[in-house]
Amino acid sequence: MSHLFEAKKEINRKAFEKASTLVEEKIKSLRANTPNLPYEKTKLAEVEINKFFYEGKTVDRVMIVLRSNGCQHYKTNGGCSMCAHLNGAPLMEKITHENYVMQWNSVIDGSFNESATTKFNLNDYPVVCVYNLGSLLNPEEISFDTVKYIFASLNQYKGVKKVIIESRAEYVTEDALSAIREVYDGIVEVGIGVESTDYLVRELCHHKAIDDTKIITDAVEMLHRFNMKALAYVNFKPVFLTESEAIDDAIKTSVDCFSKFHFDAVSVEPTSLQENSLANFMYDLGLYRVPWLWSLRDIIHGIYDGTGTKKLDIRLGGYFDEEVLSGSQGTGFADRNEIFPHMTSSNCSHCTNEFVDAIKQFNMTYDVKDLDKVKPCPHCYSLWEDTKKICDSRSIMKRINDILGRM
Ligand code: SF4
Ligand SMILES: [Zn+2]
Repeated sequence: MSHLFEAKKEINRKAFEKASTLVEEKIKSLRANTPNLPYEKTKLAEVEINKFFYEGKTVDRVMIVLRSNGCQHYKTNGGCSMCAHLNGAPLMEKITHENYVMQWNSVIDGSFNESATTKFNLNDYPVVCVYNLGSLLNPEEISFDTVKYIFASLNQYKGVKKVIIESRAEYVTEDALSAIREVYDGIVEVGIGVESTDYLVRELCHHKAIDDTKIITDAVEMLHRFNMKALAYVNFKPVFLTESEAIDDAIKTSVDCFSKFHFDAVSVEPTSLQENSLANFMYDLGLYRVPWLWSLRDIIHGIYDGTGTKKLDIRLGGYFDEEVLSGSQGTGFADRNEIFPHMTSSNCSHCTNEFVDAIKQFNMTYDVKDLDKVKPCPHCYSLWEDTKKICDSRSIMKRINDILGRM
């Protein structure tokens, strides 16, 4: 895979610009199909409960997804190749501070869960994620006043030990973090989409629009200055990579995140398919398969080898089958929810469920033995091993040109 890891200065800029334009134009044309659905602006997009490993114990985590204005990178540049969260945002209307407050108040009084038999109480959840389908630290997407309202409220719940939010690196600013620290003194972890530390993979395959990783270094330093934790999201298997290239890239990126950028935790996120994404488009053409779950084992072991330690906070994130307490308002693409993918990382129909259970177990213990114990499946394991042998000698630019340049 040496041809992928070209130093940025050695890249043929003309070929890069051409490939980059092809990717961006294709993503934008797919986004044009995003329907403007009549979401209720005062109702949450989703609430999900799952287990989480926190301070050596398995605890309950609640993930609260605000119905929001959508990611700015998505609105201006088309967004990342694997993401279609804008499917869950009202395109023509703005979610105001008052709308967000009503959404948040429905968490506080439990009214978001109309079918509940027991009253929802934030104090029952030591880990709370608050997501906005974009960057919670970007005031263009959600105002600092709104963020302060949410965190001031969270500060009242002493059962909540850790709050996890997400933001692109460029919005991790002194102003944003000060706004939170004015009203919240607990543990805050900010998830930052790094996706890949390889320039070509990140900028072409992910279409991430992070030209210089200094912005990531600065963000991690800033978080640590505010006594906050930095979590890196590493997308596993973007479009245009073979399975083995994607494994190598996820390992190298995760090792870089720990060793070079000093992230406190890494979440490896296997690509799943949402409507109107470039990944989904490539899948429809028969040019993309979601990553194999077997590969995740290689990645975890590779990260241990690369860092020389197993004492790492590594999570396997993204979408797997979870209990959704509240979500679809009946307007989405799929049965469950408009942001829930229609296809997630998988092996074959015989062993996928067992491996997903092993992933859930791993996320409760961070012990790779939970993944290692899954026995090779007679139906698909050798197929996966063969898949890893597939090579593509073309550069990423050439691959993009060959596929998108001929349409
Ligand atoms: S992955 Fe994050 S930065 Fe990329 S389009 Fe989606 S929300 Fe925006
Ligand atoms: Zn199988």
